[in-house]
Amino acid sequence: MDKLILDSLIDHLPHAIFWKNTSLVFCGCNRQFAQQFGYSNSEDLIGKSDYDLPFPKDLVEVYRADDIAIISSGMAKLNYEESQIQPDGTEKIVLVSKMPYFNDEREIIGIVGIYTDITLRKEQEFQLKQAKEAAEQANQIKEEFIANMSHDIRTPLTGIIGMAQILEQEVRQKDEKLHAYWIKESGERLLDLLNEVLDIIVADNFSEDNLNEEVFAIRGLIEELVQLQQPLAKLKNLDLQVTIDEAIPEYIITDRIKLNRILLNLLSNSIKFTDSGSIVIKLIKIPGNDTNVEIEFSIADTGIGIPEASLTQIFERFFRVIPSYKGNSRGYGVGLHVVKKYLDALKGEISVTSKQGVGTTFSFCLSLRTVRKITSKLMAKTKLGNAEESVTHLDSSKFENNDEFHPYVLLVEDNHIALHMAEAITTQAGCRFSSAKSGEQAKELLKTKTFDLIITDIGLPGISGNELSQFIREREKINGTTKIPIIGLTAHALDKAERICLESGMDKVLVKPINLTAIQELLINYLPSANKFS
Ligand code: ADP
Repeated sequence: MDKLILDSLIDHLPHAIFWKNTSLVFCGCNRQFAQQFGYSNSEDLIGKSDYDLPFPKDLVEVYRADDIAIISSGMAKLNYEESQIQPDGTEKIVLVSKMPYFNDEREIIGIVGIYTDITLRKEQEFQLKQAKEAAEQANQIKEEFIANMSHDIRTPLTGIIGMAQILEQEVRQKDEKLHAYWIKESGERLLDLLNEVLDIIVADNFSEDNLNEEVFAIRGLIEELVQLQQPLAKLKNLDLQVTIDEAIPEYIITDRIKLNRILLNLLSNSIKFTDSGSIVIKLIKIPGNDTNVEIEFSIADTGIGIPEASLTQIFERFFRVIPSYKGNSRGYGVGLHVVKKYLDALKGEISVTSKQGVGTTFSFCLSLRTVRKITSKLMAKTKLGNAEESVTHLDSSKFENNDEFHPYVLLVEDNHIALHMAEAITTQAGCRFSSAKSGEQAKELLKTKTFDLIITDIGLPGISGNELSQFIREREKINGTTKIPIIGLTAHALDKAERICLESGMDKVLVKPINLTAIQELLINYLPSANKFS
């Protein structure tokens, strides 16, 4: 190519270009490079070195060290960012590439450098990063706000539900009972709504580390679920069937609450979107090894079905095939999103087959650890999780019939309504109790009394539930006494709080309101002395 054309081409490139010999003296450059340092002519730079350019001394040494490394190694250094101080003192960030320059004999006779000013791009990147950080911070503040709001709504709401529950049991008149039941029902519906909102936050921040594994009876869980949804199915004249493979062991280990939520969301959807026919829940054992049991869960309905084009979208947040303002089914498009998030954490994958007007089947497989035998005789006796008599129907008289043992529970709660509720439920469960309205009071009681179980609110004024738990665990260690089961109660919904509580020595954290079933389950799971019932 003609040298003039070549020079003109190089001059017009939107990059600064230079070349030096092995003594690091400039042998040439393009116009952009020359003009940047105040030279109108490229030739004026020939024979000069970096020391002649208006660079700070320390930068010159950096540039030269790079040049020397390239010349001695014969290796190019490509696309790296470098600071460059300009004659007017301002700083530019440039994207540099330097390559060895060979003669026809393949000997290195110098280096060629090319760089582009990326100062503006870096500034934009920095601003974007700042905006992202600000957005993340705002998001975190928003989540904390919602979590706090939830706490503040949950506390009085659980008070209303709990007191209505007590009232329902205590009043004798039929219509009074019904009114109390309605208050409880409305309160629970409001709580469900609140939970649904919070589910989005929890599910989106949920990871495997937050799994809370426990041993439980799988048939009991399905039975409870069916009992909860049966009235809705009946209302629509739907036939709700359950088939559980006999080969599935009685007890499995996983995050019960998450599995329950997955199944509940799928089952309530199938009822919601089916007007006639049946819903079939199936649990099938996939053949495999003994330590883990692989179960395929499926829920099939004969409902409206899902259009093929929407099948991949239904797991997206807020997606609904028919927007709620058009259809008559309520919902926010959150349920399946939560299902997917929780299944991700449990290492399960959901699949769906559907035909419009025919029905839909959702299914997923989970590989679950299992236990051969539950040693507690109480569990065996009450057939925990057996289809005939599930946990929900444990009768507190089972505790009361026995004169020998009424577990002694320490209740720590500063809200007097919540405390009154917990006291009533503890009594119903056949336990004795002492109450403390603060962590300090609890400490005083612990000096003179021995409890079988401690149930403490986490957000106490003064000593917090976590601090109390830490104090108790330390005392046990010093005295060499056995560990008292400590259960934390929180009105917060986020899993973060739970981890901190477990680290402080608590055995379990429950979300308020605590109900009779929950207390009975606690007694079964945490009081080995309950074996006395056998
Ligand atoms: P929601 O039920 O609150 O709308 P989901 O996330 O649970 O939200 O479900 C998203 C959408 O998927 C539903 O609105 C519905 O259009 C569709 N869908 C889910 N389950 C079924 C089903 N069993 N039959 C028909 N459509 C369903």
